[in-house]
Amino acid sequence: MIIGAIKQSGENRIPIVPGIISSFNKLGLNVCVESGAGESAFISDSDFKNAGAEIMSKEDLLGQVDILLSINPLSGSEYGLMKKGAIVVSSFEPFSPDKDYVDIVNDFPIHALSLDMIPRTSRAQSMDILSSMASLAGYKAVIKAAEHLPKYFPMLTTAAGTVAPAKVLVLGAGVAGLQAIATAKRLGAVVEAFDLRTAAKEEVESLGAKFVVVEGAKDDKGAGGYAVEQTEEYKKLQAKVIADHAAKSDVVITTALLRGKKAPLLIPESTIVRMKSGSVIVDLASGAGGNSDHSADNEVVNFKGVTIIGAGNLSNELPVHASELYAKNILNLLKLFISDGKIDLGIDDDIVQAIKIKQEESWMQSSVG
Ligand code: NAD
Repeated sequence: MIIGAIKQSGENRIPIVPGIISSFNKLGLNVCVESGAGESAFISDSDFKNAGAEIMSKEDLLGQVDILLSINPLSGSEYGLMKKGAIVVSSFEPFSPDKDYVDIVNDFPIHALSLDMIPRTSRAQSMDILSSMASLAGYKAVIKAAEHLPKYFPMLTTAAGTVAPAKVLVLGAGVAGLQAIATAKRLGAVVEAFDLRTAAKEEVESLGAKFVVVEGAKDDKGAGGYAVEQTEEYKKLQAKVIADHAAKSDVVITTALLRGKKAPLLIPESTIVRMKSGSVIVDLASGAGGNSDHSADNEVVNFKGVTIIGAGNLSNELPVHASELYAKNILNLLKLFISDGKIDLGIDDDIVQAIKIKQEESWMQSSVG
């Protein structure tokens, strides 16, 4: 049984790292990697070889693997090179309105497991790539903000006088937001945060930040850890409260996502114009439509003196740890349905069943499992 990973355009991360190869071998999997695939994560072909992986061309690899690990979905021509019954493990975004990635993979007789469908349960935490990547993004968002802010973050008492600490507002206190709060606190900022989910208040406060309260949120207990759509009345009040807090902040970090939907607009132009000149917005939702007006994914824009950083994929800028965590998450997932080189995708396991995005009965019998 062979497992492998290829180099992907614009991608610095790789879902296999040398330190994980012996664990794959213990599951009965031989590992192959496309030549040069680890370069952007500072892993050479010889690092992989020394750890026991075979290095090969992309075409050879796609034709041989039983399991392909991939950060981003492939193109149709790449799937076309794969064996019938092979498994692709990636993030196919089946919740996105257009379902493009699902449509493409559906045309090929291969299994598709979508990592973004891993349930948010305690048992699944060690497999959750979304959380691993969000945590890296939250950290990096603060570092980016500090780089662009024309001020210190911490309060400093110097011979020339005392410098006030930067004020940071974090919108969305999920995995990325909480890591942003912790990082901004470590740099010495005064931090406030807001989230629609009522459970976030306690988490924000436990990190030493102040929770911005907006009264009247809908009950979200049955939403599986995701935010729920709110009433128009609540949204109006929320917009006013956030605008007032943003106007007083030096940095606003936005992380609010609604799965399968466009990200909510939290910083409209009317709020940006109230912000101080020189202040910075880092928008982690810029790849999903953006939480801020004027944010553009992977771009830095200056609007009326405010720097707006569109940063939808910041974990790709920390490829060493992103790759390590990604690989460990996937190893934990594969352990659920692989042992002694045998794959069982039919296993009665809620996590395995949740990530299967195809119904492929017609060719299941001849699959590698
Ligand atoms: P996410 O990436 O889907 O969204 C980020 C945050 O934005 C969320 O906290 C969400 O409530 C918030 N948000 C959405 N719309 C908003 C709005 N209009 N205004 C303000 N905030 C808004 O969420 P996430 O970071 O993946 O995690 C959310 C929750 O789920 C957290 O409590 C997290 O701990 C939990 N979680 C649990 C597991 C697990 O148990 N395996 C895994 C991942 C996340």
